[in-house]
Amino acid sequence: MNPQFERHSGDEMLHLTLMDGQVRVLLCETTLLTQRAADLHDASPVAAAAMGRLMAGSLMIGVMLKGQGENVSVTIRGDGPLGPLTAVADHDSVRVTCIDPHVQLPLRPDGKLDVGGAVGHHGRMSVVKDMGLRDPYVGQIELVSGEIAMDFAQYFTVSEQQPSLVALGVLTSGEHVLKAGGLLIQPLPGCEDGVIDQLELRSPMFADISRELAAAPKEELAEGWFRGMNPVLLDRTPLCYRCTCSRDRMERVMISLGSKELSDFIAKDEGAKVQCHFCNTVYSFSTEDLRDLLARASAKEQAGEA
Ligand SMILES: [Zn+2]
Repeated sequence: MNPQFERHSGDEMLHLTLMDGQVRVLLCETTLLTQRAADLHDASPVAAAAMGRLMAGSLMIGVMLKGQGENVSVTIRGDGPLGPLTAVADHDSVRVTCIDPHVQLPLRPDGKLDVGGAVGHHGRMSVVKDMGLRDPYVGQIELVSGEIAMDFAQYFTVSEQQPSLVALGVLTSGEHVLKAGGLLIQPLPGCEDGVIDQLELRSPMFADISRELAAAPKEELAEGWFRGMNPVLLDRTPLCYRCTCSRDRMERVMISLGSKELSDFIAKDEGAKVQCHFCNTVYSFSTEDLRDLLARASAKEQAGEA
């Protein structure tokens, strides 16, 4: 065993290069954070699988963002029963929400969860990267399959002009997430054709990523899959499910509703509750709190008019 491929347990992203930097590889395990999302959203197996795949794919983009406060939001709007799904990732954490996490669908004929059926085969995927600049980067593609991995591959290839092989998977026992993870392989500009041919030849080995991860540690998989291609581990990042909501942020959301809406809440004198869609935390505002927010909203509106 190569000492750089020391086994670590838990959720983690490995960043490797192959063939002296001709190929970039990201390999992640996301089992615990997928279970966390499934618990928070009381998700059905197919919803947990869809959210798990979306989170692993979003983390592949998130880990490439380096700056503090930079993040990426990936939203899939398909025509399936799950409704829109959104994940937000930064360089080491992710959170997710979907409209109907209780959707149940029959298994596909091959015995797998019908993620494409739940997401829908038609629709759009949008990627918004907030890198602290004035305007965020926005990329959009038509869904290829709704199975999510191919949709991410299409995004990288079309929007980022970076041909990519993507595998994403969630293996569940029904109630529990047994394994979840993902793999991204990107031949970088100047990569030799022979190297690309090698990767294509080997691609069946990593097609079923969650089953592979259930059979062996990710480090062992990386060594085996890329044997003879000089795999070098550049970086490893622990990953977690983390929400960044706060009372301060929710106050700003309330203020953005505007003075008319806030006045209506105050007139009812029942206070207001706002629940975070990513972590279910409830923020309560008393009528007194709302009067304070109304004053701030009115001041903002007057400043806007001036
Ligand atoms: Zn939250």
